[in-house]
Amino acid sequence: MSDCLFCKIVEGNIPSSKVYEDDQYYAFNDIGPQAPTHILVVAKRHLDRISSMDDGDCAMIGGLFRTAARICAEKNIEDYRLVINNGAGVGQSVFHIHLHILAGRPMGWPPG
Ligand code: AMP
Ligand code: ZN
Repeated sequence: MSDCLFCKIVEGNIPSSKVYEDDQYYAFNDIGPQAPTHILVVAKRHLDRISSMDDGDCAMIGGLFRTAARICAEKNIEDYRLVINNGAGVGQSVFHIHLHILAGRPMGWPPG
């Protein structure tokens, strides 16, 4: 999508601190880190939010988690939190689906 921040990052039109890339996924450091490790994993194909998923998107969403696990294993990070915000009311600010990887500090439960 031409007006989507994360599509522009995936396309290289906006700079990012790349962590991982393959043909379907792109990961980069969050610009406003909420933990010592705060990485965003995005699918290269635009989907705005989890609630827009249909059955054809299941593999793509599964791949987000698989990619996150691969990145963490590569970095020897054993304990991490994976977060997807769905909707502005719970903090979604970029409407291109992305998985937050948060690690490197104690985390409370429930999340705030
Ligand atoms: P969310 O609030 O779940 O939609 O997450 C969006 C995340 O994108 C936030 O944690 C922002 O800090 C992050 N973000 C926004 N712009 C950029 C950018 N240009 N590069 C890296 N991360 C960004
Ligand atoms: Zn997009």
